[in-house]
Amino acid sequence: MTNPTDHLIAWLKDAHAAEEQAITMLSNLAQRIENYPDLKARVEQHVNETERQAERVRECLRRLGSDSSTLKDTGTKLMGLGQALSGIFTSDEVIKGVLASYTFEQMEIASYKILIAAARHLGDTETARVCEEILQEEIAMAKWLEENLERLTDRFLDLGAKPGQTAKH
Ligand code: MG
Ligand code: FE
Repeated sequence: MTNPTDHLIAWLKDAHAAEEQAITMLSNLAQRIENYPDLKARVEQHVNETERQAERVRECLRRLGSDSSTLKDTGTKLMGLGQALSGIFTSDEVIKGVLASYTFEQMEIASYKILIAAARHLGDTETARVCEEILQEEIAMAKWLEENLERLTDRFLDLGAKPGQTAKH
């Protein structure tokens, strides 16, 4: 038997770990991009949003009486995706970065929808409200990536076919 609030707290901690990991991954991605300025700008914007998201999730945990000193321990659950984003220096790393970012946003969208449902279940309207606002930022990022996948792929293939050009980042 587990108290529903304990589940909400555990899921908020998972979300916080994902945000911390996203900050690292997206910062690394943005730093490496040279030839895709609009992608770089959008990723940098989302790094700023993500830092604020992590803060807001921490505030929810504090309000629920959770000890935030244990937060760092939960951080390694999504490492597979993290490696996909931060560890790949292949000849198509920008495409791999976009793919991993899009996948990561989908995971975040699902996890905030679950958090909203759990918070509402418990009558925690403040956590539900915060998670709803974060969800909108994740949806906007996923939408931007989705709408730009074709153009970014075209640019990657065109740049790669030109002598003396670097397409990979
Ligand atoms: Mg996020
Ligand atoms: Fe995100």
